[in-house]
Amino acid sequence: MLQLARRMSRAKPSAIMLIAEKAKALKAAGRDVISFSIGVPNFLPGPHVYEAVRKALDHDSGQYGSNRGSNELLDVFLKHLQQAGFSGYTRENLSTGVGAKHVLYSLAEALLDEGDEIAFPTPYWTSYMDIAEIVGAKVKLLPCPPTQGYKLKPQQLDAALGPATRVFLFNNPSNPTGMVYSRDEIAALAEVLVRKPDIWIITDDIYHRMVFDGIGYHNFVHIKPELAARTIFVDSLSKTYGMPGWRVGFMAGPKAVANAVTTLNSNHITNLPEIVTAAAVAALSGPQDVTARQCIDFTARRDRVYAALSAIPGVSCPRPQGAFYAFPDISAFFGKRLDDQVIADDVVFCAALLEHQGVACVPGSAFGEPRALRISYTCPAAQLEPGLRRIAAFCAALV
Ligand code: PLP
Repeated sequence: MLQLARRMSRAKPSAIMLIAEKAKALKAAGRDVISFSIGVPNFLPGPHVYEAVRKALDHDSGQYGSNRGSNELLDVFLKHLQQAGFSGYTRENLSTGVGAKHVLYSLAEALLDEGDEIAFPTPYWTSYMDIAEIVGAKVKLLPCPPTQGYKLKPQQLDAALGPATRVFLFNNPSNPTGMVYSRDEIAALAEVLVRKPDIWIITDDIYHRMVFDGIGYHNFVHIKPELAARTIFVDSLSKTYGMPGWRVGFMAGPKAVANAVTTLNSNHITNLPEIVTAAAVAALSGPQDVTARQCIDFTARRDRVYAALSAIPGVSCPRPQGAFYAFPDISAFFGKRLDDQVIADDVVFCAALLEHQGVACVPGSAFGEPRALRISYTCPAAQLEPGLRRIAAFCAALV
C-alpha cells in the first residue's frame, strides 16, 4: 500500500495560518473583518533595499551560491552581531537559511536524534512543537502561566533540565506573549545553564531589536561568555526589517553547528538566491532607523492594546514589552454563553469572536496555553481601536 512516511502523521499545518485563512475567506465574502491574527510587520524595508535588488538584477550571475551564505552577507551579519553585543565570531561560526523557521528546523535536525529531549517554555511559538514532532524529538514543556507573567523562573529551569535533555530552546522577546526578559532575569537563567554543560542552548531572538521601555536586549552569552561554546543565536530579517516574504534567517554559534547547518543547506536549499542575498546585505548594512521608528509606533500601540484589554472585566494581560503581540488571559469567560453557544474554550472563543464581531485572533492553544489568545497588533492603524472595541463588546455580551 502506498503510504506517507510516519513522520507526516505528526506534521500539522500551522494553526495560525488556518485562522488567517478563515479571516481572509470571510473578508472575500464581504464581511468586515479586522485581523489580529498573523504576526507580520506593517512596514516595508527602505528604498535602499529595492535599489540593491535592481542593481543585483543587472549583474545576476545566475549561478549556484555558497551553502553557508555569501561572504558579503556573512560579513554584514558579523557586524550586525557585534551591534547586538556578540563578539569573537568569524564566518565559520555562521550559517543562513530560508527564514529563521528553516534555520530552526535545520538545528533540530542537526542536534536532535529521534527520541532526544528538547525543552522549552510554554507559551511557545507554534512551530517549535511542530518541528520537534517532525524530527521525532521528545518535548519537555516548562509551563510559564499568566500568573508567572509568562516568564521562566531559574528554579524551574534547574529542575526541568535533566540528563536526558539535549537542547534547551528559548525565545526572547516572546512570540506569542510579547514578554521580554530583563538583564537580571537572563543572568539568573544563565547561572543555571552554566551548570548544565551537556545541553545545547538555542536562543531564538528574532525580535531582539523590538524591545520597549528601555529594557534592552540581553542574551545568556552576554552575561556568561563561556556559554557561547554551546549557544546558537537565531536571527531573521522577517520582523525587524519588514521582510517576512524575503525568507532570510541566520544562526551564529559553535563552528560544528554552523557547519552542520551548512551541510544540511547543501542538501536542502543549496543557497539563498543571489537577489535575496543582495536585499539582505542592503538591509543589514543600510540605514538602521526603520526598526527604531517602528518601535516607537509599536510602543504606542502596545499602550493602547494593554490599556483596552486591562479595562475589560474578566481579561487579564501581563504587559508586553517587545515584539508586537499581546497574550491576554480570557479563561474567565470559559463556560459563559452567547445566545445558545457555550464558550467552552479558547478555540470556541476565537471562532465566536470572528463570527460575531469579525475580529480574528489566534487561540492560545496554538501556543500551548489554552487560557489565552494572541493579538498581533500590526493591523492598519485605523483598525486598532475598532478591533479593541469589538473585543470588549464581545466579552460584555458573554453571560
Ligand atoms: N521564531 C519566532 C519566535 C517567530 O515568531 C517566527 C515567525 O513568526 C519565526 C521564528 C520564523 O521567522 P522567519 O520568518 O524568519 O522564518
